[in-house]
Amino acid sequence: MTGRIPSRMMAIAICGAGIGGLASALLLARQGHAVTLFERFETPQPVGSGFMLQPTGMAVLEALGLADAIAERGAWVDRLFGRSEPKGAVVLDVRYAALDPAYRGLAVQRAALFDLLYETVKREAVMLRPGMIVTGASKGTLTFADYAPTGPFDLIVDALGTGSALSGQYPARALPYGALWATLDWPEDGPFSPHALEQRYHMASRMAGVLPVGSVTAGASEKATFFWSLPHAAREDWRNRPLDQWKDEVRTLWPDTAILLDGIDSHDAMTWAAYRHRTLVRPFGNGIVHIGDSYHATSPQLGQGANMALLDAFALARAVETEGKAEIGATYAQLRQGHVRLFQTMSRLFTPVYQSDSRALPILRDRIAGPLSTCWPAPTLLAALVAGTMGRPLARLGLDAYRVGKVRPVARS
Ligand SMILES: Cc1cc2nc3c(=O)[nH]c(=O)nc-3n(C[C@H](O)[C@H](O)[C@H](O)COP(=O)(O)OP(=O)(O)OC[C@H]3O[C@@H](n4cnc5c(N)ncnc54)[C@H](O)[C@@H]3O)c2cc1C
Repeated sequence: MTGRIPSRMMAIAICGAGIGGLASALLLARQGHAVTLFERFETPQPVGSGFMLQPTGMAVLEALGLADAIAERGAWVDRLFGRSEPKGAVVLDVRYAALDPAYRGLAVQRAALFDLLYETVKREAVMLRPGMIVTGASKGTLTFADYAPTGPFDLIVDALGTGSALSGQYPARALPYGALWATLDWPEDGPFSPHALEQRYHMASRMAGVLPVGSVTAGASEKATFFWSLPHAAREDWRNRPLDQWKDEVRTLWPDTAILLDGIDSHDAMTWAAYRHRTLVRPFGNGIVHIGDSYHATSPQLGQGANMALLDAFALARAVETEGKAEIGATYAQLRQGHVRLFQTMSRLFTPVYQSDSRALPILRDRIAGPLSTCWPAPTLLAALVAGTMGRPLARLGLDAYRVGKVRPVARS
């Protein structure tokens, strides 16, 4: 930090009520700033299926006072495990305990985290402006599809996600593969571990995954997220094929999934997610900062996007708290750039190993990388990659990684 005089109360516009936007709204409103949150949907809503919160993202939620509440709605995951078929070679076996016995991932339904953040935002002094499609920003003023321009704001936070209208000069590159996702009932006494993300691959062109994701509200039924990797170009063909033909293909790769496939009765039960990649060289401009996927979109192979958005929101709040208005963007970038670059590079390298038409990469994965991943120091490095702690992003923010079972100070009244 530079020691400059921190910004006084500012008028801040946050664009996008996703994970990054909601977390930013909470952090900045609690600092006393006048926060307005713009969202395109009339009723803000989560898009997508389940995902994993890492000890990094959980550290931010803990700072927001929300870690216990989200933990009640998720499933603790201690292992990521994958086999390459038909030979059954283990090519992914990452255990958080290789790094720290108290580290875990928390697998949650997207709706569980979204609802928690949104309900908390509604209780804070945040002005919510739903149903407003942001189209541009200039000199602190925002433009919208169907409304008059609004502003000026001292700071605009672009949290519009992958397709952001505010980082449009660097459009995200579409990746050739995406995935079909479904949230299904968790099969009690079924073949899947309730504490692992499990995947099966054939070469890099086929991949299925099962993740336990807990219940969306305390007491609701437990769910699983099931996903099937698919090239963008094959999506139309998949829709036109009989569903049973596709189910046969999945069962051939991974017979245990039969119990889950029974819960999929139409193509519409599966949601398509396209993946994109982009890293802004400079995540700020004159009076604007980019956080979350609008700064760094990528495939979810490393499972870091939501965690990165939370870290960005926290870093931005630190910069706002400690810096004068003119230095906020540069300080925010300094706090996040190293970690973002490291993980974007790793994601670019790892994605084709699991999702591509390459013939060579999966052979190298199965014959060399898989066996090597069990040799020291690979288990620790892989655990740090999955936990998101590689590059020590939390130290810069004055946070500690979230540890399960850690005794936290009890607030005295
Ligand atoms: C299938 C899938 C699985 C994933 N799994 C994981 C995982 O396991 N772990 C993990 O950490 N991450 C995962 N991710 C990534 C993670 O979901 C994203 O990185 C994260 O949601 C980014 O948050 P964000 O706030 O930047 O953007 P978003 O959550 O996308 O929010 C953007 C918001 O902006 C709004 N918006 C967009 N355009 C406009 C506009 N013009 N005007 C007004 N509002 C607008 C949208 O409606 C939305 O509410 C996964 C992603 C996908 C697709």
